[in-house]
Amino acid sequence: MKKSIIKYHLMALGVLLLVACGGGSSSSSSGGSSASSATNCQTKAVTLSSGLPPGMAAMAAMSSSYITSVAVSGSNVVIVTKDVPNHPSPYCPTSSSVNTVAGCTNEAQSLSSPNYYNNLLFGSTNYAQNPSFIAVGTSNSQASPSTTFKYTLTLPLQPTCASSSTDTSLDAIGAASNGIVFFNQYAAGNAVLTGEVAGFDRFGGHPAQSGNYHYHMEPRYLTTTTIGGNLSGSQSALIGWALDGFPIYGPTNSSGAAVSLDACHGEYHATTEYPAGIYHYHVGNSSPYIVGCYAGTPGTKVLTP
Ligand SMILES: [Zn+2]
Ligand SMILES: [Zn+2]
Repeated sequence: MKKSIIKYHLMALGVLLLVACGGGSSSSSSGGSSASSATNCQTKAVTLSSGLPPGMAAMAAMSSSYITSVAVSGSNVVIVTKDVPNHPSPYCPTSSSVNTVAGCTNEAQSLSSPNYYNNLLFGSTNYAQNPSFIAVGTSNSQASPSTTFKYTLTLPLQPTCASSSTDTSLDAIGAASNGIVFFNQYAAGNAVLTGEVAGFDRFGGHPAQSGNYHYHMEPRYLTTTTIGGNLSGSQSALIGWALDGFPIYGPTNSSGAAVSLDACHGEYHATTEYPAGIYHYHVGNSSPYIVGCYAGTPGTKVLTP
């Protein structure tokens, strides 16, 4: 991360602390580029097991509180997720506040509790809860309950390197292996994350204003063995897929080899799930945190309120 950006983050921290993400915008994440920034990208056919990309069967088997369906459709895989975290969050609503959400477990997070993400970026451990709750309906108000809120993500089954990379955009840029969507390194209006980080829960998630929960940074529920004592995860785990179909891993390689990323945040080598080799993204502690641009051709995302 550039020093000037860090400085901007610090300056903006005070005024943007409680700003929540706007959902649904399709504006571009950054200036366009005509050449590929995915200099590490190589295309290799993926060997599919049970029709799905490696690692995806476990997500398909998740409870209907979290995943509606994961299925092959032609040359794509279609993920329909309720986008409800399978870990506790202070953003899970309680019956005394707004509509409760099946499978969503509320846990209090005090304002003085450590905030891993804020500490990582700014050396501040302050936690500042944002005003939205996770919603299953069109809004998180009592007046309009609904059970149809979901994301439908369509990804290529066989990801291929594109001749030019594609900028990510606001809203979902992929799905974590627990069905939660990833957002990019920007908040509404393409603002840097500065004002949002303090509001991330201990697993790195928070809801947008319309209630759609998402991760902008490493989802520690999937990558860390012990936070709160009862979690399992791995720093080198396959933790999800980008919209272009390429997999996303934790911050390290299981082989122990150093991670060497291109501008899209990807590299190419064999992984546990793809022994023949695959281009893949890694989450990391500096912007863009997850995916900087799509090396392949992104599929589609639809948020159905
Ligand atoms: Zn956000
Ligand atoms: Zn790697």
